[in-house]
Amino acid sequence: MSSSFQPGDLGPMDPVQYQEHLARKASELAGEPEFMPDIEPFRVPAASSPLALELLEAALERRLTGGELLILFEEASLHDVGRVAQQLRLRRGDPDKVTYIIDRNVTYTNLCYADCGFCAFNRHQGDGDDYMLSLDEILEKCRTVIEAGGNQILLQGGHHPKERLPYYEDMLRGIKQAWPQMWIHGFSPSEIQHFARLNRLAETEVIARLKAAGLDSIPGGGAEILSDRVRRIMAPGKAMAGEWIAIMEKAHHAGLPTTATMMFAHIESYAERVEHLLRVRESQDRTGGYTAFIPWTFQPHGTPMMNDPQIRAQVESHGYLGSVDYLRTLAISRIALDNFANIQASWVTQGKAVGQMTLYFGANDLGSLMMEESVVSAAGVSHPLTRADLDEMIIGAGFTPALRDNGYNLIG
Ligand code: SF4
Repeated sequence: MSSSFQPGDLGPMDPVQYQEHLARKASELAGEPEFMPDIEPFRVPAASSPLALELLEAALERRLTGGELLILFEEASLHDVGRVAQQLRLRRGDPDKVTYIIDRNVTYTNLCYADCGFCAFNRHQGDGDDYMLSLDEILEKCRTVIEAGGNQILLQGGHHPKERLPYYEDMLRGIKQAWPQMWIHGFSPSEIQHFARLNRLAETEVIARLKAAGLDSIPGGGAEILSDRVRRIMAPGKAMAGEWIAIMEKAHHAGLPTTATMMFAHIESYAERVEHLLRVRESQDRTGGYTAFIPWTFQPHGTPMMNDPQIRAQVESHGYLGSVDYLRTLAISRIALDNFANIQASWVTQGKAVGQMTLYFGANDLGSLMMEESVVSAAGVSHPLTRADLDEMIIGAGFTPALRDNGYNLIG
């Protein structure tokens, strides 16, 4: 059976109806075998097949098709995809510089009823440790960013069931009033969709109003894997794949740049990773509005979906892939996304040593020196680094560190 559920079908609802609908859909979906076909354990070839080698040579000259990318996932070795990804990275940007930004995640609330299966961060009202930051608390966090030489906050939060759009507009205006130089990178597509439903507004209007209030760009969070089969299991309460892309394109048309992310190594297949890459590449062809692509690995610790035996078995069927799967996928992302200038490494999930190795697997940017990070650390992963650490990683790998702004312009 396939679900006819599309969040777009929901239309505007009041908050209670909306939460009830999410809960009903989540329970309907639980354990439906059609949604959990047997995915082959990820095979990581020690040596590339002749066909994979041929395709890697072709990738230096032309765009690869989805089928060809799938062959790379199945038949190309870590070393070979890294070699080609690195050549492409050196061609597509400054071959000497590796960039990063100083910013701080400001996660304004952990109150959220979307209940994504991979999230160890969200809380419900009455849990005792749910919170909503006040504007003063947010401004205090902004002050620490400016003092550390930074100029950006990543402003994200759960799908708060009650706060209406003016609340977020006031938040943005308050930040800009106190710190006009602060770049506000905020509100991922699922938050935009949530605001639209809760306020009974079109997504374009939500985007326009947030932009008018001070929003500068939108982070690519909540993409997980842009395949509806995967999303119906992991995050049935959030935007489906086409909706996620559509919201990003609405933002681009409104003049807001965005990033794109991919969270992988859970219940998806290699084919679904390719679907994700193709959706993002096609969207970039249409708008050119994405500044960077950021893949990272699922962090299973403490996440609700690992309590489901079927899902747990699927995730664990792949065995220990560690950094090999991450680096291969990073490299194939660089190869696939010929229209992205910047591929960002995720040292937050991979740590300093593997974070440094990304610079030889297609990454040209180390993302942000996150002064605070809540969501990944809720899943038990924590790799705090200082600015000196990042510089050391970059110099140690043979490159020159460069501080950038959110537009990827060098500032120091
Ligand atoms: S990932 Fe985001 S939307 Fe999903 S439950 Fe967690 S906080 Fe809510």
